[in-house]
Amino acid sequence: MSAQSFSRRALALALIGSLILQPVLAQLPDLGDPARAGLSAAKEKQIGQIAMRDIRLHEPSYIDDPEVEYYMNSLGRRLAAAGGAIPEDFNFFVLRDPTLNAFAMPGGYIAVHSGLVLAAQTESELAGVVGHEIGHVEQHHIARSVDQSGTATATVLASLLLAILAGSRGGSSGGALAEAALVGGQAAAMQRQLTFSQSFEREADRVGLQTMQATGFDPQGMVSFFERLGKASGPERADTAFLRTHPLSRERMADMQGRVKEGPPRVVADSNDFVLFRAKLDAEAGLPRDALNRVKSRTAMRRQDQAARWYAIAHAALRDRNTVEASKALAQLRDMQFESPFVEMLAARVASAQGKHAEAARICREGWQRYPAARYLLLAEADELLEDGKPQQVAVMARDALVDEPGNERLYLLQAKAFAAQGKTADQQLAQAELFALRDNLPAAIQQLQLAQRSGEGDHITQAAIDSRLRELRARLKDQKSNKLE
Ligand SMILES: [Zn+2]
Repeated sequence: MSAQSFSRRALALALIGSLILQPVLAQLPDLGDPARAGLSAAKEKQIGQIAMRDIRLHEPSYIDDPEVEYYMNSLGRRLAAAGGAIPEDFNFFVLRDPTLNAFAMPGGYIAVHSGLVLAAQTESELAGVVGHEIGHVEQHHIARSVDQSGTATATVLASLLLAILAGSRGGSSGGALAEAALVGGQAAAMQRQLTFSQSFEREADRVGLQTMQATGFDPQGMVSFFERLGKASGPERADTAFLRTHPLSRERMADMQGRVKEGPPRVVADSNDFVLFRAKLDAEAGLPRDALNRVKSRTAMRRQDQAARWYAIAHAALRDRNTVEASKALAQLRDMQFESPFVEMLAARVASAQGKHAEAARICREGWQRYPAARYLLLAEADELLEDGKPQQVAVMARDALVDEPGNERLYLLQAKAFAAQGKTADQQLAQAELFALRDNLPAAIQQLQLAQRSGEGDHITQAAIDSRLRELRARLKDQKSNKLE
């Protein structure tokens, strides 16, 4: 068993653990009442949240990168909003995986494999797959699959989720997950449910095409991408896990082609952010030296492709700790005056790698003023200020930003780092406790607060905050425990 398949197995077991085993059962929504059969939207969300937290914490292929998160969510949420949904109900993320796949989990969590992003020839093609997955979520296909089986128990749901993940994986890692799913039981039954029915697939296609049209993407992108996936053969075909979980019939293809023909033909340019997002995933695949050689050998005719090439070279060179080459490639990219927050972030990274932290912080700040939606530039600025020995400034930034985004884990992490750098241990522990509380790890949060309380450090405001937070979290933990016994 490879290290990777082992880790996936660990993920699968972690999922089973969090969904089935008693200690965590209290966190689960009430799944009883088989007469009602199926899942409410709130229950779906809760199950999705639990699974997502496990993926974030334990799945090594999960790409924890603010730029990747930013691009995927702005694309996905734009599509969801165009389809009439509430964009914040959706969360999109990327898994580092060469197989061509994407899948939706309960509660609007949608995963896209990096392999699929790299295989997309246009942004419209990527939007087509994302739109299709949004269709599955919008139409509550997972919940309706449960409806059909009529047995909405925690075990069934856990297996369902595992089967989604297993089905989404190609090759041996999928096997490991599937095996783990058997531990959870009923895997075979779940697998049948999970391969969505043809009518669900067509529904997802229809919603996907509508959202693409409403967003201004080229619906033909969905058709051409699915067509290419369908035509793949040999080892390439084995990589198209997408077709296993979303079976592509001749009728479905004809259906899509018919719908697209109805609309006017459309030529849609890719966004600059898309080409750099794809270039970043490209530069991050494989060993640094190999990645650098690979992206350098790419030919680029169009302006966007040339920019993407310089961007990828700079990024891969940074990974390879070659700041000279990185800064040369960045200069080429700057000469092109290619507009994107990705360029600003890259410039800050290059400066940072050269030890110029004050300059990197300034680039981030100016970049954020130019691209206010790219909030990750603000977090990057804070990291650079910490490196530059300005933790007080960072503590203030984090406090202010938390007013707008109280659910942002990265801000608590930043706060903890800033306090640690100032030797303010009690404040640091308080920030760490909030981070654990956000992750719903109440015992760890309480432990941090107890340490902070016992140390007696911090001013009376900090100590009062610690006392009151400790009371709240203890009450919440007690609540969870008593719910479990019911
Ligand atoms: Zn599908």
